Amino acid sequence: MIPYGRQTVTQDDIDAVIKVLKSDFLTQGPVVPRFEQAICKKVGSKYAVAVNSATSALHIACMAVGLEPGDRLWTTPITFVASANCALYCGAQVDFVDINPLTYNLCPNELEKKLIEAELEGTLPKVVIPVHLSGRPCEMKKIWELSKKYKFRIIEDASHAIGAKYEEESIGNSRFSDITVFSFHPVKIITTAEGGMALTNDSELAKSMELYRTHGITREEDQMSGESHGPWYYEQIKLGYNYRMTEIQAALGLSQLERLDNYVTVRNSLAKRYSEKLSELPLVLPEETSNSYSSMHLYIIRLQLHKISKSHQIVFQELRQKEIGVNLHYIPVHTQPYYQSLGFFHGQFPNAEAYYQNALSIPLYQTLTHSDQDKVIKALHTVLEY
Ligand SMILES: *Cc1c(COP(=O)(O)O)cnc(C)c1O
Repeated sequence: MIPYGRQTVTQDDIDAVIKVLKSDFLTQGPVVPRFEQAICKKVGSKYAVAVNSATSALHIACMAVGLEPGDRLWTTPITFVASANCALYCGAQVDFVDINPLTYNLCPNELEKKLIEAELEGTLPKVVIPVHLSGRPCEMKKIWELSKKYKFRIIEDASHAIGAKYEEESIGNSRFSDITVFSFHPVKIITTAEGGMALTNDSELAKSMELYRTHGITREEDQMSGESHGPWYYEQIKLGYNYRMTEIQAALGLSQLERLDNYVTVRNSLAKRYSEKLSELPLVLPEETSNSYSSMHLYIIRLQLHKISKSHQIVFQELRQKEIGVNLHYIPVHTQPYYQSLGFFHGQFPNAEAYYQNALSIPLYQTLTHSDQDKVIKALHTVLEY
């Protein structure tokens, strides 16, 4: 099976991990801060908080901006469930904003419409989470302008988008948001096995996320309410978690980071190759980006079903039978049984639901060979009978 995505681990990565295994610290040592600083430098962010997953990063980001019971968080229905679940962890309510049918990202016009209504009803969100689906940046400037008018905070879910650029600047610099979150799961662009990071330019948000990452415990005297009892002393001042990243993970990430630019370049050139070789098929291919540069985490195609004699499901199955590891990103979150039990229903976000009826992710990763890519292209021609 040619998978839809896969990690690359080099001998340098392995050496970096072994070095940590032989060192004094497996966790809470010097490598995590080095990894944080390297990412900050790479993307142009002031602060970074490394954690054990992007899910944890989204959770501490929500806590840091003060998301609480009674508050609302809005995100896109076409995302991994974690982008919405983080609101529920905080006891807040979730709602969704439908996607732009061309970019598959949260649609700023839909957002504005929904904000106008919410203002009348007194149900404005405290937080909006745009997700850079497939590595393609959302229209951040418009969302940012709306955030000033309607007073909400922005957390970018950039799990797909490390290495992407928006208006010439790196995703992760939080130019148009309060916090940006990366994932280092193995299917993402660079990996730490499990891992994530929250980036911000706001020192208060950074401090707060650092506290929530490790039980709400501080060793800094200026944050304590009492006198220090001695060098062993710490205070728990909030209710936090253990969301720490290990040194082993950080060493892997730091080593992988050196190849980030190369990976994104290779992904873009493979994507271009797909776009050229699939252009005759009854498919909608990813739209070209104008003011941004995608990290090309996913190559998403949409079947023009009215031109094909097979259903979406049959095309999917036949590709899998041909050992092409297609996938579908994502099932609209509001249609998940858990979200249905919260009152969401089918038909609520028509663009997201229409997308789900014909979308497919085809294999794309930095070590995909041209010959394997040609197998994918050939299989698509055969299955679609073109
Ligand atoms: C992968 C992913 C997450 C969760 O990442 P983890 O590191 O696995 O917790 C969140 N949001 C999106 C959009 C993702 O793709």
